[in-house]
Amino acid sequence: MSKNEALLTCDGCPGQCCRHVATEIDEPVCKRDYDHIRWYLLHKNVFVFVDQNGDWFLEFATDCEQLDDAHCCTIYEKRPRICRQYGEQEHEVCEYLSEDAPYIYRFHSAEEFEAYLAQKGIDWRWKNRKLKQQ
Ligand code: SF4
Ligand code: SF4
Repeated sequence: MSKNEALLTCDGCPGQCCRHVATEIDEPVCKRDYDHIRWYLLHKNVFVFVDQNGDWFLEFATDCEQLDDAHCCTIYEKRPRICRQYGEQEHEVCEYLSEDAPYIYRFHSAEEFEAYLAQKGIDWRWKNRKLKQQ
């Protein structure tokens, strides 16, 4: 039996979708963009991922304050719409129940992102310029 067939509810899940927030960002296409992504990734608990549609996201790994010790939502009846939609409409493809990886790439550090750029032959480094004296 597949994981999807065995688990059609949130039972057994440690509240995986309640432990981060992610917001869509533009696909990086220039040195300024690469620099911004490197900057994000230099911070603790910040990740960047590319989902199966090729969309780029900035992710902050941080537990929702409303998740209790039993991994349940303490404001279930008034939880945000985005939580409701995730639980009800995308349930069979949520990150815990799906057998497929939710992303094509997930960068955990600036080094990982730099290696990805190097593999694509992209030079992300700025040319050395003298900083103006202030
Ligand atoms: S929707 Fe999926 S990830 Fe979220 S709590 Fe339920 S099983 Fe876990
Ligand atoms: S409000 Fe509830 S369902 Fe939404 S992320 Fe927080 S604990 Fe999860």
